[in-house]
Amino acid sequence: MSFKNVLGHSRPISLLQRAIENEKVVNSYLFLGNEGIGKKVVALEFAKALNCLNEEAARGEACDHCASCKKIDHILHPDVLLVEPIGQGIKKEQVIQMQRELVYKPYEGKRRVCILTAADRMAHDIPNTLLKTLEEPPLHTVIILLANNSRFILPTILSRCQPIRFHPLPISLVSKWLMEGKGLNETEAHLLASLSDGSPGKALEIREEISQIPREALLKDWVGSKSLSFQKMGGWVEALPSQRENLLLILEVAKTLLRDLVMVKTLKKETKLIHSDLWQVMESLSAHWSLSSLLKRMEILHHTSLAIRGNANTSLALEAMMLSWAEG
Ligand SMILES: [Zn+2]
Repeated sequence: MSFKNVLGHSRPISLLQRAIENEKVVNSYLFLGNEGIGKKVVALEFAKALNCLNEEAARGEACDHCASCKKIDHILHPDVLLVEPIGQGIKKEQVIQMQRELVYKPYEGKRRVCILTAADRMAHDIPNTLLKTLEEPPLHTVIILLANNSRFILPTILSRCQPIRFHPLPISLVSKWLMEGKGLNETEAHLLASLSDGSPGKALEIREEISQIPREALLKDWVGSKSLSFQKMGGWVEALPSQRENLLLILEVAKTLLRDLVMVKTLKKETKLIHSDLWQVMESLSAHWSLSSLLKRMEILHHTSLAIRGNANTSLALEAMMLSWAEG
């Protein structure tokens, strides 16, 4: 694999390639973007391009065949350090260990590259010397911090790095990759891509969970049900997972089900559906609904999701949502 095989992210990649070509590689970078979007893949390709033994690397593309490229591909290069969180985040000892290694010159590579994969999840007691290291890393060293969210990074760290943003990939691109690269069928690929927030890693991560969600029952008996009795509402509140992350995923699926109902109601085009396998159920359900009631339900669902994301009590939020649904 080399830069040209990376899925999407042409802008960050061309920025990095130009830096190599123009010999303007800076000491510290901060790659920002959703979990699983491809930041680590790009960081490793950058490390390869910086260290490739082949001449073409001067143009910012690794050859993929030389000893250096192969070692980095297998995370076996002594000058490429990958620091990944242990447990909840990066620990103080890991940063100290990294700094110890930086004292030496690169063993065999042209540049030492340190990749810290969860810079927004570093322990609070991270030594101040990290700031110094970021500002003036030892000669021939490039430090790359990866983070989902800059909100959780100390401003003193932010100001010392060149930020590079990784935007969500288009749904169509993630979907194509899932089909061609991972062998998924079109329906599953499109569904996972639609729920992935533009992140191939997330699409794969939620695959199993999504396969266990009873989408048809959710649609018929809950999301698209016109007559939710109090008893049924209570049943759903109990049946839905209490774990916040799992519940949020189900609510995301519920949103896409409602969105499909709206599509069927307005466009009547099967090809546009996320849940294309449920087309027939959608069509018969949508007949009972007015467009405005569906949109209202979507809005309520959206606000419930936001509240739960913002740490509201999950069962209370769900109960309130069901009551508003019943009124509408
Ligand atoms: Zn190479």
